[in-house]
Amino acid sequence: MSEGQQQGSRLDPWVDSYAKRTEGMKVSAIRALFSVATRPEVVSLAGGMPNLAALPMDDVGDMIGRLIKEQGEVALQYGSGQGVTKLREQICEVMKLSGIEGHPDDVVVTTGSQSALDLVTRLFCDPGDVVLVEAPSYVGALGVFSAFQCEVVHVYTDEGGLNPEALDEAIKDVVAQGKKPKLIYTIPSFQNPLGITQSPERRKQVLEVALKHKVMVLEDDPYCMLGFDGVVPRAIRADDAEGVIYLGSFSKSIASGLRVGWALAPHGVREKLTLASESSVLSPSNFSQMTVSEYLSTQPWDQQLKAFREMYRERRDVLIGAMEELLPAGCTWTVPEGGFFSWVTLPGGINTTTMLPKATANLVAYVPGNGFYVDDEQGSDAMRVSYCFPPLDRIPEGVRRLAATIEAEQELIETFGPSATKSRKSGPSTPSPEIP
Ligand code: PMP
Repeated sequence: MSEGQQQGSRLDPWVDSYAKRTEGMKVSAIRALFSVATRPEVVSLAGGMPNLAALPMDDVGDMIGRLIKEQGEVALQYGSGQGVTKLREQICEVMKLSGIEGHPDDVVVTTGSQSALDLVTRLFCDPGDVVLVEAPSYVGALGVFSAFQCEVVHVYTDEGGLNPEALDEAIKDVVAQGKKPKLIYTIPSFQNPLGITQSPERRKQVLEVALKHKVMVLEDDPYCMLGFDGVVPRAIRADDAEGVIYLGSFSKSIASGLRVGWALAPHGVREKLTLASESSVLSPSNFSQMTVSEYLSTQPWDQQLKAFREMYRERRDVLIGAMEELLPAGCTWTVPEGGFFSWVTLPGGINTTTMLPKATANLVAYVPGNGFYVDDEQGSDAMRVSYCFPPLDRIPEGVRRLAATIEAEQELIETFGPSATKSRKSGPSTPSPEIP
């Protein structure tokens, strides 16, 4: 049996038949642990799911009932591959909040922005092509890039976000190696997993580097409406229409279960994107799109966004307050100005992957930092903690359990030295809906 080849088994007799690209699709050991993390007694600081508690379900229910009664034959039918025209017009209005002047013709509605990530990668990347990403970056995007057999290069990311000088160097390096840099994937606002936001200045510098090297920017912006000060950051796409593909989503600002996202692409790219989308899904769900469209035209979205922002800000405050009070000296973390996540770095050689089973035994869960990198080594002293989903009053208890776990790990290391057990991991895992 040659290297990398697997043999069929009773569990999966088709192992020898899979395409080579499936080698990039892996279920991680971490994911298995999350089945434990969803038990009610565990405080999960791992999940990245939006909290729908602030959504007015009765009003949404009435609205959907009316939609089906009055327009059911359209809502429940196939639709256009590019998406419902009225919604694409509304999306252009929404994007104006980010400073973007887009045309509805250049918007392709997708099944969440996750699907847009998949389609754009399919259009641009042959196996071996390079995608430059923040260090660390969104696990679901890494999963897509690896499924398309891209080489992912993490670019040095500081407290201001993606570092433009490092980006410039990284692109030069890739080209010098004879490889093709195809995409610069960035999440400039309330980044997942870091929780940090690029300044306007930084965004301009990143764009300049991208334009200089003629590499397409893939700007992923699902959290932009969730800035705690109510200000929507100006998108990179606002300053360049040809060199940026912008991805948006209603998952965090209305409801993730509707699975409505979009791509705003340069005109030529948009055509190919629509074809790719049609070959993938025929048409995105008319029902979901019309629900979002109705929601935007009949419900007080502004107030809803305000409620979401306040809810998440309160949760952020509780998490950060508890970490200040309880985490041992030497731990550091980011303080997000919006979104769902904080990135915590631990001192003294603690490996967060090795520590995770002990944390879950102590009834708290987080996502180990190396899940947000394509290789095993980086991020092993860090973790992503999220405040979006656990009940508010459970967050301090979660941090207390986390602090106790870290202290026990520190004692172990002081006695026996840094754990000999290296964490096992090979490439990013496919995203799990609970972890995003
Ligand atoms: N991009 C980022 C950075 C995300 O965090 C997520 C999901 N959490 C997505 C894209 C996908 O979102 P959706 O498909 O629900 O729009």
